[in-house]
Amino acid sequence: MSNILSELTFYFQRFDWLSFVDLLLVTAIAFFLLRLVKGTQAVVLIRGLILLIIVTTLLTILRGLPAFSWLLRTTLPALLVAIPVIFAPEIRRGLERLGRAGSLLSLGSTTDHMERMIDIICSTAQRLSDRRYGALIVAEREVHLDEYIDTGVPLDAHLTPELLLQIFTINTPLHDGAVILRDDRVTAAACVLPLSASGTLSRSPDRQMGLRHRAALGISEVSDSVTVVVSEETGNISVAHNGRLIRRLNRKNLGNILTSFLRRRTVRGLPAWLDSLPIPWLKPRGQAPRD
Ligand code: ATP
Ligand code: MG
Repeated sequence: MSNILSELTFYFQRFDWLSFVDLLLVTAIAFFLLRLVKGTQAVVLIRGLILLIIVTTLLTILRGLPAFSWLLRTTLPALLVAIPVIFAPEIRRGLERLGRAGSLLSLGSTTDHMERMIDIICSTAQRLSDRRYGALIVAEREVHLDEYIDTGVPLDAHLTPELLLQIFTINTPLHDGAVILRDDRVTAAACVLPLSASGTLSRSPDRQMGLRHRAALGISEVSDSVTVVVSEETGNISVAHNGRLIRRLNRKNLGNILTSFLRRRTVRGLPAWLDSLPIPWLKPRGQAPRD
Protein backbone atom coordinates (compact mmCIF):
# COMPACT_ATOMS: atom_id res chain seq x y z
CA MET A 1 0.00 0.00 0.00
CA SER A 2 2.78 2.41 0.93
CA ASN A 3 4.41 1.47 -2.40
CA ILE A 4 1.33 2.56 -4.31
CA LEU A 5 1.11 5.81 -2.32
CA SER A 6 4.75 6.66 -2.94
CA GLU A 7 4.33 5.91 -6.66
CA LEU A 8 1.27 8.18 -6.78
CA THR A 9 3.18 10.99 -5.01
CA PHE A 10 6.03 10.54 -7.50
CA TYR A 11 3.66 10.92 -10.44
CA PHE A 12 1.94 13.99 -8.98
CA GLN A 13 5.29 15.69 -8.37
CA ARG A 14 6.18 15.26 -12.05
CA PHE A 15 2.78 16.50 -13.27
CA ASP A 16 3.18 19.61 -15.48
CA TRP A 17 1.21 21.26 -18.30
CA LEU A 18 2.60 18.81 -20.83
CA SER A 19 1.22 15.91 -18.79
CA PHE A 20 -2.11 17.75 -18.74
CA VAL A 21 -2.12 18.00 -22.56
CA ASP A 22 -1.06 14.35 -22.71
CA LEU A 23 -3.98 13.27 -20.50
CA LEU A 24 -6.39 15.52 -22.38
CA LEU A 25 -5.42 13.92 -25.70
CA VAL A 26 -5.85 10.38 -24.40
CA THR A 27 -9.21 11.31 -22.82
CA ALA A 28 -10.41 12.94 -26.05
CA ILE A 29 -9.46 9.88 -28.11
CA ALA A 30 -11.13 7.52 -25.61
CA PHE A 31 -14.26 9.72 -25.60
CA PHE A 32 -14.36 9.83 -29.41
CA LEU A 33 -13.93 6.05 -29.71
CA LEU A 34 -16.65 5.43 -27.12
CA ARG A 35 -19.03 7.75 -28.99
CA LEU A 36 -18.36 5.84 -32.19
CA VAL A 37 -19.38 2.51 -30.64
CA LYS A 38 -22.22 3.96 -28.56
CA GLY A 39 -25.45 2.01 -29.08
CA THR A 40 -23.62 -0.97 -30.58
CA GLN A 41 -22.93 -4.39 -29.12
CA ALA A 42 -19.29 -3.36 -28.62
CA VAL A 43 -20.32 -1.34 -25.54
CA VAL A 44 -21.13 -4.51 -23.59
CA LEU A 45 -17.81 -6.06 -24.62
CA ILE A 46 -15.90 -2.91 -23.68
CA ARG A 47 -17.60 -2.87 -20.27
CA GLY A 48 -16.53 -6.49 -19.73
CA LEU A 49 -12.99 -5.72 -20.86
CA ILE A 50 -12.66 -2.73 -18.51
CA LEU A 51 -13.86 -4.92 -15.63
CA LEU A 52 -11.36 -7.62 -16.62
CA ILE A 53 -8.49 -5.09 -16.76
CA ILE A 54 -9.41 -3.66 -13.32
CA VAL A 55 -9.62 -7.11 -11.73
CA THR A 56 -6.36 -8.34 -13.28
CA THR A 57 -4.53 -5.12 -12.34
CA LEU A 58 -5.70 -5.48 -8.75
CA LEU A 59 -4.70 -9.14 -8.66
CA THR A 60 -1.26 -8.55 -10.18
CA ILE A 61 -0.57 -5.90 -7.54
CA LEU A 62 -0.78 -8.70 -4.98
CA ARG A 63 2.54 -10.54 -4.98
CA GLY A 64 2.96 -14.29 -4.72
CA LEU A 65 0.58 -15.42 -7.46
CA PRO A 66 3.03 -16.99 -9.92
CA ALA A 67 0.49 -19.28 -11.61
CA PHE A 68 -1.95 -16.41 -12.16
CA SER A 69 0.82 -14.15 -13.52
CA TRP A 70 1.81 -16.92 -15.94
CA LEU A 71 -1.83 -17.24 -17.10
CA LEU A 72 -1.98 -13.49 -17.72
CA ARG A 73 1.33 -13.45 -19.57
CA THR A 74 0.17 -16.21 -21.91
CA THR A 75 -3.43 -15.09 -22.50
CA LEU A 76 -2.87 -11.34 -22.99
CA PRO A 77 -1.21 -11.66 -26.44
CA ALA A 78 -4.09 -13.92 -27.52
CA LEU A 79 -6.58 -11.29 -26.32
CA LEU A 80 -4.77 -8.63 -28.37
CA VAL A 81 -5.42 -10.70 -31.49
CA ALA A 82 -8.95 -11.70 -30.46
CA ILE A 83 -10.21 -8.17 -29.75
CA PRO A 84 -9.85 -6.79 -33.31
CA VAL A 85 -11.51 -9.97 -34.60
CA ILE A 86 -14.46 -9.66 -32.17
CA PHE A 87 -14.81 -5.93 -32.82
CA ALA A 88 -14.32 -6.14 -36.61
CA PRO A 89 -17.80 -4.78 -37.60
CA GLU A 90 -17.62 -1.92 -35.07
CA ILE A 91 -14.06 -1.03 -36.11
CA ARG A 92 -15.10 -1.02 -39.76
CA ARG A 93 -18.09 1.23 -39.08
CA GLY A 94 -15.98 3.57 -36.97
CA LEU A 95 -13.33 3.85 -39.67
CA GLU A 96 -16.01 4.48 -42.29
CA ARG A 97 -17.37 7.33 -40.19
CA LEU A 98 -13.88 8.75 -39.78
CA GLY A 99 -13.32 8.46 -43.51
CA ARG A 100 -16.55 10.29 -44.21
CA ALA A 101 -15.43 13.06 -41.89
CA GLY A 102 -12.64 13.65 -44.40
CA SER A 103 -15.06 15.26 -46.81
CA LEU A 104 -15.53 18.22 -44.56
CA LEU A 105 -18.01 21.01 -45.00
CA SER A 106 -20.89 20.88 -47.37
CA LEU A 107 -22.43 24.03 -48.69
CA GLY A 108 -25.70 23.34 -46.89
CA SER A 109 -27.60 25.77 -49.04
CA THR A 110 -31.32 25.31 -49.44
CA THR A 111 -31.77 24.24 -53.00
CA ASP A 112 -35.12 24.21 -54.71
CA HIS A 113 -34.87 20.54 -55.57
CA MET A 114 -34.27 19.68 -51.92
CA GLU A 115 -37.39 21.62 -50.87
CA ARG A 116 -39.35 19.80 -53.52
CA MET A 117 -37.92 16.43 -52.56
CA ILE A 118 -38.81 16.96 -48.88
CA ASP A 119 -42.36 18.00 -49.77
CA ILE A 120 -42.84 14.95 -51.99
CA ILE A 121 -41.39 12.54 -49.42
CA CYS A 122 -43.60 13.96 -46.66
CA SER A 123 -46.84 13.86 -48.61
CA THR A 124 -46.11 10.41 -50.04
CA ALA A 125 -45.09 8.98 -46.65
CA GLN A 126 -48.40 10.19 -45.22
CA ARG A 127 -50.40 8.67 -48.05
CA LEU A 128 -48.47 5.38 -47.85
CA SER A 129 -49.01 5.31 -44.09
CA ASP A 130 -52.77 5.92 -44.50
CA ARG A 131 -52.95 3.01 -46.95
CA ARG A 132 -50.66 0.80 -44.82
CA TYR A 133 -48.19 0.34 -47.65
CA GLY A 134 -44.68 -0.51 -46.43
CA ALA A 135 -41.96 1.73 -47.88
CA LEU A 136 -38.26 2.41 -47.69
CA ILE A 137 -37.07 5.68 -49.24
CA VAL A 138 -33.36 6.51 -49.07
CA ALA A 139 -32.11 10.00 -49.87
CA GLU A 140 -28.47 9.84 -50.88
CA ARG A 141 -26.12 12.59 -49.74
CA GLU A 142 -22.34 12.81 -49.96
CA VAL A 143 -21.60 9.09 -49.74
CA HIS A 144 -22.55 7.47 -53.03
CA LEU A 145 -24.76 4.42 -52.75
CA ASP A 146 -23.94 2.86 -56.13
CA GLU A 147 -23.25 -0.57 -54.65
CA TYR A 148 -26.85 -0.66 -53.32
CA ILE A 149 -28.34 1.01 -56.39
CA ASP A 150 -26.83 -1.82 -58.46
CA THR A 151 -28.85 -4.39 -56.48
CA GLY A 152 -32.14 -2.85 -57.63
CA VAL A 153 -33.94 -1.95 -60.84
CA PRO A 154 -32.50 1.20 -62.42
CA LEU A 155 -35.09 3.92 -63.09
CA ASP A 156 -33.47 7.37 -63.26
CA ALA A 157 -36.93 8.90 -63.18
CA HIS A 158 -38.27 12.30 -62.18
CA LEU A 159 -39.45 12.18 -58.56
CA THR A 160 -43.21 12.52 -58.16
CA PRO A 161 -45.61 11.38 -55.40
CA GLU A 162 -47.48 9.26 -57.94
CA LEU A 163 -44.32 7.37 -58.90
CA LEU A 164 -43.46 6.60 -55.26
CA LEU A 165 -47.03 5.49 -54.57
CA GLN A 166 -46.97 3.27 -57.62
CA ILE A 167 -43.63 1.70 -56.64
CA PHE A 168 -44.76 0.80 -53.12
CA THR A 169 -48.20 -0.47 -54.09
CA ILE A 170 -48.45 -4.02 -52.76
CA ASN A 171 -48.04 -6.88 -55.25
CA THR A 172 -46.39 -4.75 -57.89
CA PRO A 173 -42.96 -5.81 -59.22
CA LEU A 174 -40.98 -3.00 -57.53
CA HIS A 175 -42.63 -2.79 -54.12
CA ASP A 176 -40.11 -5.05 -52.33
CA GLY A 177 -36.95 -3.30 -51.19
CA ALA A 178 -35.85 0.32 -51.13
CA VAL A 179 -36.06 3.30 -53.45
CA ILE A 180 -32.87 5.35 -53.64
CA LEU A 181 -33.10 9.05 -54.46
CA ARG A 182 -30.24 11.11 -55.80
CA ASP A 183 -31.11 14.81 -55.70
CA ASP A 184 -34.67 14.86 -56.96
CA ARG A 185 -34.43 11.80 -59.15
CA VAL A 186 -35.45 8.24 -58.38
CA THR A 187 -32.26 6.39 -59.24
CA ALA A 188 -33.49 2.83 -58.58
CA ALA A 189 -36.20 0.80 -56.88
CA ALA A 190 -36.30 -2.65 -55.24
CA CYS A 191 -32.79 -2.11 -53.87
CA VAL A 192 -31.36 -4.37 -51.18
CA LEU A 193 -29.84 -2.47 -48.25
CA PRO A 194 -27.36 -3.74 -45.67
CA LEU A 195 -29.03 -4.91 -42.46
CA SER A 196 -28.03 -3.26 -39.21
CA ALA A 197 -25.91 -5.42 -36.95
CA SER A 198 -25.80 -2.92 -34.11
CA GLY A 199 -28.53 -4.59 -32.08
CA THR A 200 -30.23 -1.25 -31.35
CA LEU A 201 -33.60 -2.57 -32.41
CA SER A 202 -33.36 -5.91 -30.67
CA ARG A 203 -32.74 -4.07 -27.40
CA SER A 204 -35.61 -1.67 -27.95
CA PRO A 205 -39.06 -2.36 -26.54
CA ASP A 206 -40.41 -2.41 -30.11
CA ARG A 207 -39.27 -5.91 -30.81
CA GLN A 208 -41.83 -6.26 -33.56
CA MET A 209 -39.59 -4.25 -35.88
CA GLY A 210 -38.19 -6.44 -38.56
CA LEU A 211 -36.06 -6.37 -41.65
CA ARG A 212 -37.39 -3.16 -43.21
CA HIS A 213 -36.43 -1.10 -40.16
CA ARG A 214 -33.15 -2.94 -39.75
CA ALA A 215 -32.32 -2.20 -43.39
CA ALA A 216 -33.08 1.51 -42.83
CA LEU A 217 -30.80 1.55 -39.81
CA GLY A 218 -28.18 -0.46 -41.69
CA ILE A 219 -27.84 2.03 -44.56
CA SER A 220 -27.68 4.89 -42.05
CA GLU A 221 -24.72 3.20 -40.36
CA VAL A 222 -22.64 2.87 -43.52
CA SER A 223 -23.51 6.21 -45.15
CA ASP A 224 -24.70 9.73 -44.39
CA SER A 225 -28.02 9.06 -46.17
CA VAL A 226 -31.42 9.91 -44.70
CA THR A 227 -34.01 7.12 -44.92
CA VAL A 228 -37.77 7.29 -44.43
CA VAL A 229 -39.50 4.04 -43.45
CA VAL A 230 -43.23 3.46 -43.52
CA SER A 231 -44.35 0.40 -41.61
CA GLU A 232 -46.73 -1.89 -43.41
CA GLU A 233 -47.93 -3.35 -40.09
CA THR A 234 -48.59 -0.15 -38.14
CA GLY A 235 -48.42 2.67 -40.68
CA ASN A 236 -45.81 4.36 -38.48
CA ILE A 237 -43.35 6.67 -40.19
CA SER A 238 -39.70 6.66 -39.03
CA VAL A 239 -36.46 8.28 -40.15
CA ALA A 240 -33.04 6.63 -39.97
CA HIS A 241 -29.92 8.76 -39.99
CA ASN A 242 -26.42 8.39 -38.60
CA GLY A 243 -27.14 5.00 -36.98
CA ARG A 244 -30.28 6.17 -35.19
CA LEU A 245 -33.96 5.62 -35.83
CA ILE A 246 -36.51 8.31 -34.96
CA ARG A 247 -39.93 6.72 -34.77
CA ARG A 248 -43.63 7.55 -34.85
CA LEU A 249 -43.43 10.78 -36.82
CA ASN A 250 -46.32 12.73 -38.18
CA ARG A 251 -46.20 14.75 -41.37
CA LYS A 252 -45.17 17.96 -39.61
CA ASN A 253 -42.24 16.61 -37.61
CA LEU A 254 -41.18 14.41 -40.53
CA GLY A 255 -40.80 17.61 -42.55
CA ASN A 256 -38.79 19.30 -39.80
CA ILE A 257 -36.50 16.32 -39.34
CA LEU A 258 -35.88 15.84 -43.05
CA THR A 259 -35.16 19.54 -43.42
CA SER A 260 -32.68 19.52 -40.60
CA PHE A 261 -30.93 16.30 -41.69
CA LEU A 262 -30.82 17.09 -45.40
CA ARG A 263 -29.97 20.75 -45.20
CA ARG A 264 -27.64 20.48 -42.28
CA ARG A 265 -24.33 22.19 -42.82
CA THR A 266 -22.17 19.85 -40.86
CA VAL A 267 -19.02 17.85 -40.77
CA ARG A 268 -20.30 14.87 -42.69
CA GLY A 269 -19.96 11.51 -41.10
CA LEU A 270 -19.29 12.75 -37.60
CA PRO A 271 -21.96 12.05 -34.99
CA ALA A 272 -24.85 14.52 -34.74
CA TRP A 273 -23.85 15.49 -31.19
CA LEU A 274 -20.92 17.43 -32.67
CA ASP A 275 -23.47 19.97 -33.89
CA SER A 276 -24.22 20.89 -30.31
CA LEU A 277 -20.62 21.95 -29.71
CA PRO A 278 -20.02 25.73 -29.74
CA ILE A 279 -17.93 25.61 -32.92
CA PRO A 280 -19.29 28.26 -35.31
CA TRP A 281 -18.21 26.58 -38.57
CA LEU A 282 -20.13 23.43 -37.64
CA LYS A 283 -23.38 25.37 -37.36
CA PRO A 284 -26.04 25.53 -40.04
CA ARG A 285 -26.45 28.95 -41.53
CA GLY A 286 -29.85 30.57 -41.98
CA GLN A 287 -31.83 27.44 -41.28
CA ALA A 288 -35.49 28.07 -40.76
CA PRO A 289 -37.72 25.37 -39.34
CA ARG A 290 -40.33 24.11 -41.71
CA ASP A 291 -43.93 23.77 -40.85
P1 ATP B 1 -43.15 -3.52 -41.30
O1 ATP B 1 -43.39 -2.71 -40.06
O2 ATP B 1 -43.49 -2.81 -42.57
O3 ATP B 1 -43.77 -4.92 -41.22
P2 ATP B 1 -40.63 -4.64 -40.55
O4 ATP B 1 -39.51 -3.79 -40.06
O5 ATP B 1 -41.43 -5.46 -39.57
O6 ATP B 1 -41.56 -3.71 -41.41
P3 ATP B 1 -40.55 -6.86 -42.32
O7 ATP B 1 -41.98 -7.12 -41.99
O8 ATP B 1 -39.55 -7.96 -42.11
O9 ATP B 1 -39.97 -5.59 -41.60
O10 ATP B 1 -40.46 -6.30 -43.81
C1 ATP B 1 -40.11 -7.08 -44.87
C2 ATP B 1 -39.96 -6.19 -46.05
O11 ATP B 1 -38.87 -5.30 -45.82
C3 ATP B 1 -39.58 -6.98 -47.27
O12 ATP B 1 -40.74 -7.40 -47.96
C4 ATP B 1 -38.78 -5.99 -48.06
O13 ATP B 1 -39.63 -5.18 -48.86
C5 ATP B 1 -38.16 -5.11 -47.01
N1 ATP B 1 -36.77 -5.50 -46.77
C6 ATP B 1 -36.34 -6.51 -46.01
N2 ATP B 1 -35.00 -6.60 -46.01
C7 ATP B 1 -34.57 -5.61 -46.82
C8 ATP B 1 -33.28 -5.17 -47.25
N3 ATP B 1 -32.17 -5.75 -46.84
N4 ATP B 1 -33.22 -4.11 -48.08
C9 ATP B 1 -34.34 -3.51 -48.48
N5 ATP B 1 -35.57 -3.87 -48.13
C10 ATP B 1 -35.70 -4.91 -47.32
MG1 MG C 1 -43.06 -6.74 -40.23
